[in-house]
Amino acid sequence: LAKKERGNVQRFQSALSEAAIRRLNLEQDLRQALPNGELELYYQPVVTSGAQQPVAVEALIRWNHPVMGLLPPDQFIPLAEENDLIFSLGAWVLQEACRQLSVWRRLWPELRVSINVSSRQFTQTDFASSVAQALAVHHLPASALELEVTETATLDTESLGDYAALMSAGLQLAVDDFGTGYSSIVRLFELPVGILKIDRSLVAALIPSQDRRRSTLPLIRSFVTYARESGLQVTAEGVETPEQLEVLKQAGCDLIQGFLIARPASAAQTERWLRQTTER
Ligand code: C2E
Ligand code: CA
Ligand code: CA
Ligand code: CA
Repeated sequence: LAKKERGNVQRFQSALSEAAIRRLNLEQDLRQALPNGELELYYQPVVTSGAQQPVAVEALIRWNHPVMGLLPPDQFIPLAEENDLIFSLGAWVLQEACRQLSVWRRLWPELRVSINVSSRQFTQTDFASSVAQALAVHHLPASALELEVTETATLDTESLGDYAALMSAGLQLAVDDFGTGYSSIVRLFELPVGILKIDRSLVAALIPSQDRRRSTLPLIRSFVTYARESGLQVTAEGVETPEQLEVLKQAGCDLIQGFLIARPASAAQTERWLRQTTER
């Protein structure tokens, strides 16, 4: 190789190994994050589209990394999903969300919590029984909990069987990021899903700018029509403007979530928000 090319190859290789090392370090740090108490749940309220009253909070994980600071989930959840860390992490999320909700339900007895469940975790053999256990430990009815799943294609009927008892006791299943590539509409017809969460990319394209004239409104309307006929609730995610809220309300969306209502925030901040909103 010419000298210059050799240099390029070396730079490429060292960049590669730097990335690999960073990844390895992060993975090691993540193993310690649970025992060190560095994981934290943030919460984002879900409100009714009409009176804008809170009905649920979605738990969204954060990692208080000792050096890198507060990390959002996309910086470590994919890594956790690649190895078995997602199982211990997911078990912690379930426990912590149920614990927090049991505290909040003393003030807001109808409040629910939703947690994000990765498909590997959902299809894991003993997850359904850990859900039942977490609910029992924190004296919560099954109807207090929602499980949000994205990849409906992977939800085989076999693993769904594990959730049958919980679901007849009121556990809700929500299809997250609905309208994106991950959720199979055909599969949806066969699944015991109670809630459709319309992806925020569809909400963002609801009111098109001048150069992008095509609105997603007809699509969202058709989801709402389908949901009504099937007895499902529709949540719109990523609602950022009063205009979007108005259009979604007119279209018949039941529930609203997004920065317009509240950003995801710590448990303490969320509690303050709940108190202000409900005057309790
Ligand atoms: P998601 O479940 O679709 O969660 C919604 C994401 O949209 C959150 O990002 C939230 O902060 C953001 N968001 C909410 N409202 C708005 C808005 O009005 N505008 C915009 N631009 N964004 C908004 P976050 O917290 O960074 O979470 C990203 C993803 O990480 C989640 O997407 C979820 O798939 C995953 N995730 C979060 N917590 C967990 C967890 O405990 N377990 C698993 N397996 N995945 C999780
Ligand atoms: Ca979600
Ligand atoms: Ca989502
Ligand atoms: Ca997502």
